[in-house]
Amino acid sequence: MSDKVSSLIDITERDESVDDMWGGFRQIERIRLELSQRYYYSLGRQSRFFIELANQRFFASACDGCEKVYAPPRPLCPACLRPCDWRELSGEGSLETWSALYFSPGTNADVAALEPPYVLAYALLDGADTLFPHLLRAEAASLQRGMRLRVAYNEGPVSHPIHLMYFAPA
Ligand SMILES: [Zn+2]
Repeated sequence: MSDKVSSLIDITERDESVDDMWGGFRQIERIRLELSQRYYYSLGRQSRFFIELANQRFFASACDGCEKVYAPPRPLCPACLRPCDWRELSGEGSLETWSALYFSPGTNADVAALEPPYVLAYALLDGADTLFPHLLRAEAASLQRGMRLRVAYNEGPVSHPIHLMYFAPA
């Protein structure tokens, strides 16, 4: 076995008395490789939401059929299947529920940069009918259901434009 690769596994032990048609192929080499990948991902019909975050404006989408307001925005109303229109919200709302995270999944550079523990919250923004999940920059011990929040904005740079915003106590 080569000693030039630290993760080699050699399973060449075999019973010579047995006629083994795979005998010459019993040696297994397993190596550890690491991959990283850079790729383009389209934000599609939700792109304006992210573009407006860079302008420090918060947009939801509204259905003119059932009048539901979606934040995060949806291009198509799932209740009545009509296309939605953009609607700017104040970015203020209330805390519905939250969780303190004591380790970072490191999903991307923005998440990996967060100092645990940090808070993931579901906010109900004024004028919206759906909950918006996102980072809340506050001490978990200080939180109460129903407390007022606001969308705050980062100057960047960020890996993903969703991190141009976060929640903060109002
Ligand atoms: Zn609708």
